[in-house]
Amino acid sequence: MPELPEVETIARDLASILTGQEVKRAKLITAAIREDCGYKNLSSLKGKCLNSISRRGKNLIFHFSGNTAMICHLKMTGQLLIRKNTRPDKKHLHFYIEFTKDKLEYYDVRKFGRVCVIKENNLEKHPRLQKLGPEPFALTPDLFAKLIKKRNKAIKTALLDQEICAGLGNIYADESLFDASIRPTLKAGKISTARLKQLHRSIIKVLEYAINNRGTSVDDYLDGFGQSGNFQNLLKVYGKTGQACPNCGKPIKRIVLGGRSTHYCSICQR
Ligand SMILES: [Zn+2]
Repeated sequence: MPELPEVETIARDLASILTGQEVKRAKLITAAIREDCGYKNLSSLKGKCLNSISRRGKNLIFHFSGNTAMICHLKMTGQLLIRKNTRPDKKHLHFYIEFTKDKLEYYDVRKFGRVCVIKENNLEKHPRLQKLGPEPFALTPDLFAKLIKKRNKAIKTALLDQEICAGLGNIYADESLFDASIRPTLKAGKISTARLKQLHRSIIKVLEYAINNRGTSVDDYLDGFGQSGNFQNLLKVYGKTGQACPNCGKPIKRIVLGGRSTHYCSICQR
């Protein structure tokens, strides 16, 4: 699933091409991906100008003129593609938007992704956005430690909880815990404030490094230009089961924690 760095990369890529363009036509092909938030149809975007694209957690938000916003969550296999990167085979095409110069197409093999069009000034009331915790970049180390300390679950599981902090998924939770030398199974509430503050610094460092490397392509993720990211080449523990820890050389372990595969070094992470 695309996580914060992947969604941020897609938002920036698409914004660099589409900002300032007017919608000529917008069409929803597959009704199942329309999120029912009780507002407008995709076709109502016609005539609106795209002002900007932002990200909140793992959601892309397209800001249009006329108090209109479109929220898109790619879930497992969603892809937003433009220009020559769109596919000749339209089997998995579920909606498209024709702009003045470019066409944006949404493909999704598993159809778990969601899209909806709502009033810009209702964004904060949207059910999915409303539940999201703060962005990691918006938190101070102190505030992050306070939020985490209240939780009586494994630290890895707490990091995946979008209501505590938005945007982290399996890859960056594992990588951040490795960077902070914290074992994923430790109870969140039992970890010292100093170590949690270090963890926040590690999260920011890992996320920024991943954004600068255009995200991680281990599944279906492609950036806005249809290209793979680079961060899969820089991962230290995620997906490295049995390979040597880059710090100590011992094999990386894999366990299942809260239903998610979890990778760590039993020597370096305590
Ligand atoms: Zn190690």
